Amino acid sequence: LNQGIGSWPKRRARRTPDRIAVVHEERTWTYRELHERVLRLAHALRALGTGHGDRVAYLGPNHPAFLETLFATGAIGAVFVPLNARLAAPELAYNLSDSGSTVLVHAPEQAEAARTAAERSGVRERVVLEGDGPPDAVGQARDGALRYEDLLARGGTGPLDEAVRPDDPCMIMYTSGTTGRPKGAVLSHANIIWNSVNVLVDTDLSGDEVTLISAPLFHTAGLNMTCLPTLLKGGRVVLLGAFDPDHVLRVIESRRVTYMFAVPTMYDAMAAAPRWADTDLSSLRSLVCGGAPVPARTIDTYLARGLAFSQGYGMTEASPGVLYLDREQAAAKAGSAGVPHFFTDARVVLPDGGDATPGQSGEVLVHGPNVMTGYWGRPRDTEAAFTGDNWLRTGDVARTDTDGFAYIVDRVKDMFVSGGENVYPAEVENALLGHPAVAECAVVGVADAVWGEVGHAVVVLKPGAAADEAGILAHVRGALAKYKVPKSVAFAESLPRTASGKVAKPSLRAAYAHSGA
Ligand code: ATP
Ligand code: MG
Repeated sequence: LNQGIGSWPKRRARRTPDRIAVVHEERTWTYRELHERVLRLAHALRALGTGHGDRVAYLGPNHPAFLETLFATGAIGAVFVPLNARLAAPELAYNLSDSGSTVLVHAPEQAEAARTAAERSGVRERVVLEGDGPPDAVGQARDGALRYEDLLARGGTGPLDEAVRPDDPCMIMYTSGTTGRPKGAVLSHANIIWNSVNVLVDTDLSGDEVTLISAPLFHTAGLNMTCLPTLLKGGRVVLLGAFDPDHVLRVIESRRVTYMFAVPTMYDAMAAAPRWADTDLSSLRSLVCGGAPVPARTIDTYLARGLAFSQGYGMTEASPGVLYLDREQAAAKAGSAGVPHFFTDARVVLPDGGDATPGQSGEVLVHGPNVMTGYWGRPRDTEAAFTGDNWLRTGDVARTDTDGFAYIVDRVKDMFVSGGENVYPAEVENALLGHPAVAECAVVGVADAVWGEVGHAVVVLKPGAAADEAGILAHVRGALAKYKVPKSVAFAESLPRTASGKVAKPSLRAAYAHSGA
């Protein structure tokens, strides 16, 4: 029997065959259609020689084929490896070799990188989706690859008879690579199922949900927090490709979207988009933000619009949900990432290992059935990621209030020490964002002869707005203790970001390390 998530389309097709499961551009797929396509693909993957435990990689922007490949892979007990669609060929080759993937399904846009990366790794078979481009371009993309739809057409429809146990690996999901080289977290079917159960217990997500997937599916929040729980429940997911804030607003209105997740920068971009003021957002019941520190300004903007804008906190290693803020509490506990999910435990500990009391900052530790067993092929990283009694070390700093609600402070790795005092950039960035001319900003610690380290701010101004270093620093001085105030400000057109929309702090640190800032 298949007890893994690869059986979900079949189980859903039994319950709600005619409900719409997936919407992409102008097309829709019912649960029956999804199940039939998954079954065919599963047979076809098997015919290509893919078996239990083998790795099948996927490369491309959000598309129904991503979900079909995930479920088909799970249906035959193989392991799904979602790849970051923004990576270049050498990075892809690394991920393909690291995961030992033998089949690579990819979008036509990625054909070039996919071909190069496949050649430099153990990939035996490439499968390309159909593009809308001219026949020549499609032919190019197919060079040496099988066509996805041909494969499906050839796949059988008989029962698969695959035994998949909850503890079998379901996917190798790479972390965002915000702090270093991405690591492949091995997530079992049970990990994903428990994460979905946490979401369904703690939210009122229902079978009538229309969930917008604007975050990339190859990262954990887009896939595991929103998409999979919605499909488990029989709701509808609306997949969007490249992030375009104006388009997102249009789709929310036209598809009557009820639920969505995005990282803070996506929400900021939506609120700054031309359509923001005139878009009908009345269908939205719940907006969840997370993945990076959530600025107070972002929260205020959405609450002021009367929306239930709450926060979630988690990481790839926890499949990913750790903390969530109930939408009923969104206004009363604004700024908090909430409380631990129902089946998951979290603690805030001091450097000596003791539990922090309310108000004290410490590292977040996590334990629960949604936490990975380890990183793929990295026993030393795995060992370092857990305490002796098996709690995941998150590398994030938080404190709780007297009601037990947690506030994420920042990453341990982004903290710097100025004159002996710990400075958390997220707090400084929050103060900078209070300046009316500041659109985006990032603060990093740079070496300083007197203070050891000092803050250096990189600021992107709002279009048409003007501000200088002195004015911006004067604003921050009014809000924060002196040691937290950056010593210098650089103005930039944009900030370097990772594919999940997070500011790439290591590259900023490197860029400004020797700037004399
Ligand atoms: P890598 O581990 O490769 O450096 P990453 O940590 O960014 O990258 P993810 O697993 O995608 O990879 O992100 C998890 C991290 O995102 C958390 O450890 C935390 O630092 C940050 N994060 C998630 N939710 C929140 C939140 N609500 N507030 C602040 N930070 C958050
Ligand atoms: Mg991480």
